[in-house]
Amino acid sequence: MTNYVDFYRRSIEEPNEFWAEQARLIDWQTPPTQVLDDSRPPFVRWFAGGRTNLCHNAIDRHLATRGDQTALIAVSTETCSERIYTFAQLHAEVQRMAAALLAIGVGKGDRVLIYMPMIAEAVITMLACARIGAIHCVVFGGFASGSLASRIEDATPKVIVSADAGSRGGKVLAYKPLLDEAIRLAAHKPGAVLLFDRGLAPMALVEGRDHLASVVLERHAGADVPCEWLDATDVSYTIYTSGTTGKPKGVQRDTGGYAVALAASMKHIFDGRPGETYFCTSDIGWVVGHCYIVYGPLIAGMASIVYEGLPTQGLDGQPNGAIWWELVEKYKVTVMFSAPTAVRVLKKQDPALLRKHDLSTLRALFLAGEPLDEPTASWISEGLGVPIIDNYWQTESGWPIITIANGVEKKASKFGSPGVPMYGFKVMIVHETTGEELTAPGEKGVVVIDGPTPPGFMQTVWGDDARYVSTYWQTVPGRSVYSTFDWGIRDADGYYYILGRTDDVINVAGHRLGTREIEESISGHAGVAEVAVVGVADGLKGQVAMAFAVPRNSAVLTEADQALVLEGEIMKRVADELGALARPARVRFVGVLPKTRSGKLLRRAIQAVCEGRDPGDLTTLDDPATLQQIRSVVGSASAN
Ligand code: AMP
Repeated sequence: MTNYVDFYRRSIEEPNEFWAEQARLIDWQTPPTQVLDDSRPPFVRWFAGGRTNLCHNAIDRHLATRGDQTALIAVSTETCSERIYTFAQLHAEVQRMAAALLAIGVGKGDRVLIYMPMIAEAVITMLACARIGAIHCVVFGGFASGSLASRIEDATPKVIVSADAGSRGGKVLAYKPLLDEAIRLAAHKPGAVLLFDRGLAPMALVEGRDHLASVVLERHAGADVPCEWLDATDVSYTIYTSGTTGKPKGVQRDTGGYAVALAASMKHIFDGRPGETYFCTSDIGWVVGHCYIVYGPLIAGMASIVYEGLPTQGLDGQPNGAIWWELVEKYKVTVMFSAPTAVRVLKKQDPALLRKHDLSTLRALFLAGEPLDEPTASWISEGLGVPIIDNYWQTESGWPIITIANGVEKKASKFGSPGVPMYGFKVMIVHETTGEELTAPGEKGVVVIDGPTPPGFMQTVWGDDARYVSTYWQTVPGRSVYSTFDWGIRDADGYYYILGRTDDVINVAGHRLGTREIEESISGHAGVAEVAVVGVADGLKGQVAMAFAVPRNSAVLTEADQALVLEGEIMKRVADELGALARPARVRFVGVLPKTRSGKLLRRAIQAVCEGRDPGDLTTLDDPATLQQIRSVVGSASAN
């Protein structure tokens, strides 16, 4: 087995040779003529001159060797169903959907917005887009009309594909009314909407715009749609993520570099082998779902489980804290990927459930999306008896930045650290204000990546190169490096520790949310003059949003009933506009918010008070009484 240090060094010192080798892991219609083109930093073009297709690599190229093997296993503990597709069946379904999209006028480069629950049709639609060179833009099904509208406006999709409803814990969430409202709000209107009817919620179809997918697909049964060969640098998809401003950014990804990055990660990081089963419990609405529910496992010739439902409900609809382990046994899962939050939910179950099923096929459990705390890691590690591998990455990176490359060298993990930088990523810790590289072990600074960024990394912000440069590459003084907006330290052995965000992004149950988006929604309420939203530590979800609002009517500050009514209205507003995920845990009312003398909200000081920590340096605080107000509302609440 290779030594990881040498493997990594080669990726940095000889990127052309290193990535040319990795490029052989996928099929090319035309091989690339240039591996790395970084003549226009920070923009990078990987595998220029090459032509390939993600769908071909995920499906077609496996047909000859494993056409009859399982490709997709769609399990829903909400509708109590299980559906299996072989590679050949998936091929047929994807071609049918591709034909339907072509028939309604979708062509290469057109955007298709996908707003769907975790069902096989969502994956089939993504693959169909990739097949014909359309750019998919998947929006998490938990988002509500406001979030959806801003994404529709930015992506300007020709077609939207959706469904009547999703379901969680037996509660049906109707998508169609949210979608209708989002289309009403958005300045851009899609030409057509394709709707899958699961029979969960009634749908009123808009004449001339809405089409039932079942009717359209029937016309294309048996369709033969060849893959559109794309330039390696053509866009495969965009995915929206939150930042410091209220406007979400469309993270844009290429085709060839992404396919190579995923194929390489399946081999070197996840150690997943053809013919095996991969189980990633994320959602297709997140980057992890794109990479490791859809493309990564299929490119590697593995079967992938698409799971809809809670981790605590069985296929008979009854409570079952062992459902995931039941699936591991049943489908002989070798690689599993989840988030610390999900494990914390399972931790409340009887530990004996972990031993109820034969988990001997499982080689490792990968966790990502938020910091992995020691008790959670130990609990699951003891229960499963396999390595628990933390991995740190971002929507922007497309695959893990820091972890353990298990397929190269099984280096030991250290609790609290996701591991070491992955091949291709030049990770550094720099001083926040001087930009100086901090090389001494344990020195805290901002985690940055020096260019050129590796294959799979975002190409730019959709439609806004200037925003890509100014947001990510111009925040560290004196250096053009990519900022992750995370604090971190490195120890003497080169292991990194991630210490939380440097910006106003919070992480609720592994989901990234911008506090600005929540603030904008709350300040749209007529009864609110001003608001600050912070992320506060939570035992289960990692963080929850906490809002501090200045009411227009000062009676709210003294009358508990009025405060309760306003709090309820605000919570509902956020849930309706952004989705339940973004709803603050509490809204507390104060007369004035703590700000600096120049008028900037001191969110970090508010957060520290909420978490019972020392708010640190308060020299810029304009009026100490304002922080005292926060202390008293937080204090009186904890005394209740
Ligand atoms: P997202 O783009 O939604 O994947 O969120 C990325 C952010 O989640 C990172 O910038 C980190 O703040 C956090 N994050 C992701 N993975 C980890 C991890 N393994 N440990 C600590 N924080 C993480």
